[in-house]
Amino acid sequence: MSSNRQAFLNYLASTSDSPMSIEIESAKGVFMYGPDGKDYLDLISGVSVSYLGHSDPRIIEAVKIQADKHLHLMVYGEFIQSPQVNYAELLAKNLPPSLQRIYFVNSGAEAVEGAMKLAKRFTGRSEMAAFHNAYHGSTQGALSILGGEYYKREFRPLLPGISFLRYNCLDDLSLITNKTACLVVEVLQAEAGVVSVDPEFLTALRQRCDETGTLLVFDEIQTGFGRLGEVFGFRKYGALPDILVLAKSLGGGMPLGAFVSSDIIMSELSHHPALGHITTFGGHPISCAAGLAAFNVLLEEKLHLRALEIEKLFRQQLVHPVIREVRGCGLLLAVEFGNSEMMHRVVANATRNGLITDWFLFCDTAIRISPALNISENEVKTACSRLIAAIDQSII
Ligand code: PLP
Repeated sequence: MSSNRQAFLNYLASTSDSPMSIEIESAKGVFMYGPDGKDYLDLISGVSVSYLGHSDPRIIEAVKIQADKHLHLMVYGEFIQSPQVNYAELLAKNLPPSLQRIYFVNSGAEAVEGAMKLAKRFTGRSEMAAFHNAYHGSTQGALSILGGEYYKREFRPLLPGISFLRYNCLDDLSLITNKTACLVVEVLQAEAGVVSVDPEFLTALRQRCDETGTLLVFDEIQTGFGRLGEVFGFRKYGALPDILVLAKSLGGGMPLGAFVSSDIIMSELSHHPALGHITTFGGHPISCAAGLAAFNVLLEEKLHLRALEIEKLFRQQLVHPVIREVRGCGLLLAVEFGNSEMMHRVVANATRNGLITDWFLFCDTAIRISPALNISENEVKTACSRLIAAIDQSII
């Protein structure tokens, strides 16, 4: 056993009894390389993070330039730091007029926490609503709106007054009432195993939130930044959120989260009490510089449109009697086997074949496809042939 592997097992806290434990020494584009030089084609981008692939030179350059200027200076919100300001401005230019105030934090869960607090503060209400099979993070507020008992049971008590709706089920709209501060929803449920929203359902959610004075929060932590074929996934639909939550891709490979809202709503966090939400490292200058560099590339190269072209290639090539369905949109896809044992064998064989994929928190019969948006056609071919070989090897 290599000494790194031993130290990993001895000293790093584990999140499960069976971590992937793949050692990676370097990564470039869609490939990651082990210490023995073995290459792994990355089909999941660190779970929808590195949308330009690994070690994109434009992001690395931005990080180096910022590192030469300064690292952390002061807690979020006090000093004027150009990476934060420039990134917030560019994000705002690409968002509707009702989403112009960006609060940078460090992670997705923290952004969700911020959104939940903001909704409580703005509405003066404490109840909230979310969806079955939704994942919004692992901190206690975010965990309270997670739609599955298995992950929550041992951590109770969590926040009271949370209602859970079935996704795409109009009958459950009545669970949103004039006591509900916010409804948190993904425009495509990722960890449910990639379940697309019915556009009419999203419209109905918007209407119901308007009727009840509930803030509508879109969690675009997985769906933002081009993956669904739009710069932000909600642009595929008519409905706008009151609060938008971003993370993962937002930092271009560095840790960064944000919740975004209107001037009026966001201003509630700055008085009664002042410092209603604070963070030391939120909007770290290196993270903002990296995220800004990546976002500029996404916009210039229109990578969101490319995601839709690449989706077609995956769909053409992922044909096999064992594949029940390829579902999803753009480059957030699930390959369904309808069988958990088969799925686990495919993931293990894919890893042996040099292909990284995984499954979903609430769906262990399908694998994830969420590669870099700039994956080349040849790389898609390589990925699909490694995957089809893994499927063949998994049939017993
Ligand atoms: N929301 C969604 C939809 C997610 O997929 C995740 C993470 O997987 C989160 C929130 C939490 O983000 P983080 O892991 O950065 O806390």
